[in-house]
Amino acid sequence: MKDVKIQLSEKDMPRQWYNILADLPKPPPPYRHPVTLELMKPSDLQAVFPDELIAQEASTERWIDIPEEVADVLKIWRPAPLYRARRWEKALDTPAKIYYKWEGVSPAGSHKLNTAIAQAYYNKKAGQTRLATETGAGQWGCALSYACQVFDMECKVYMVRVSYNQKPYRRILMETWGATVVPSPSPETNVGRQLLAQDPNHSGSLGIAISEALEDTVTHPGTKYSLGSVVNHVLLHQTVIGLETKQQMEIAGEYPDILIGCVGGGSNFGGLVLPFVKDKIDKSHPNLRVIAVESMAAPSMTKGVYAYDWGDTAKMGPVAKMHTLGHGYVPAPVHAGGLRYHGVSPILSTLLEEKLIESRACHQLGVFEAAISFARAEGFVMAPETAHAIRATMDEALACKESGESKVIVFGASGHGHFDLAAYDAYLGGKLQDYEYPAEKVQEALKDLPKVK
Ligand SMILES: *Cc1c(COP(=O)(O)O)cnc(C)c1O
Repeated sequence: MKDVKIQLSEKDMPRQWYNILADLPKPPPPYRHPVTLELMKPSDLQAVFPDELIAQEASTERWIDIPEEVADVLKIWRPAPLYRARRWEKALDTPAKIYYKWEGVSPAGSHKLNTAIAQAYYNKKAGQTRLATETGAGQWGCALSYACQVFDMECKVYMVRVSYNQKPYRRILMETWGATVVPSPSPETNVGRQLLAQDPNHSGSLGIAISEALEDTVTHPGTKYSLGSVVNHVLLHQTVIGLETKQQMEIAGEYPDILIGCVGGGSNFGGLVLPFVKDKIDKSHPNLRVIAVESMAAPSMTKGVYAYDWGDTAKMGPVAKMHTLGHGYVPAPVHAGGLRYHGVSPILSTLLEEKLIESRACHQLGVFEAAISFARAEGFVMAPETAHAIRATMDEALACKESGESKVIVFGASGHGHFDLAAYDAYLGGKLQDYEYPAEKVQEALKDLPKVK
């Protein structure tokens, strides 16, 4: 009998997160203040984040203990299984060996809960009673809603109005876990009231929702703000993915030739690959290839510039050096909601500059073609975001078929697509179209980048 999945037991769960800042040849340049553009001080962040997360953001300790209280909750679904996609390999008729790390087993259905639990815990420990955040498609809002419920905190979610109207199921899930969800722009903040005065049916944007959540945070005592991707401490919390995968690959008796993950802000990809990138840096596995896959609709790594930019449209959040399409980026009409962000994690940007990882962008028609091929062989219907990693995996597996090589490919399966069936419906009904972010828009956006000295 050939194994299809490799399971670890609860006692094998990682007890520490891996912090790549300890091993990077060059650390990412420090954050700048959104208004003065001077170096950001930890105290600048204290209005929105608790001290322990601020410390983690800048820490250069290689290993950081996972608190017992956090590990206890992660145990609900962790360790997550690593699958060998034997049926899909057969369907593709490839000699490649394909593995996938399945994060869709979490209650919220994606990897995002790994950091939501940790963030809620540190906030609770610091005496906070409430967290505020924004959500686009709703994945992050769902994760934080459950995390707040676990630690008996209130959760306020500003959900981009178009998604609020078009995707009621994620809102219902958040409410099931006890969160309060309002469509953004909302009448509850100054920012929201101003926009609603101009247009009572304003459809909202992630940038606006971030502004509302930040205003909510600084105007409500006992409240802090929580971020689902991009920043260092989020990638840190996600390294449980890669640390488990390393153990599981050891059990399989293999080391990957290629690692693949989809990238929005970079947290599931970072979580999977950073513990392996360590092996590239220390030259124990110099030939490992690590591929970051993004959407053609938000190609920050493949078509953006490496420059300082604001993390949010409203220019309220820190300025970071990263690959960016410009903070004025307007989300394109594609179905990979979680990949539509103008920038990318500063850690991943540094790795790309150092050529420790590579990047590629995919069109959505090819992405769904691959996701359907995968679903028909393996059964799992993946999130449209995850499907980008599946596309790149399929291309590498088909290249192996050409060359006759049996490379070991591992991809990150960040979440399930049960709330994204409308996207599958559009693809199957022939209604889906490709969209490419225009290069001219990036050139235009360059004029509006902060002038950091
Ligand atoms: C949010 C999300 C992503 C993209 O975010 P990253 O921070 O880049 O991981 C990818 N997959 C799923 C399932 C998501 O919910």
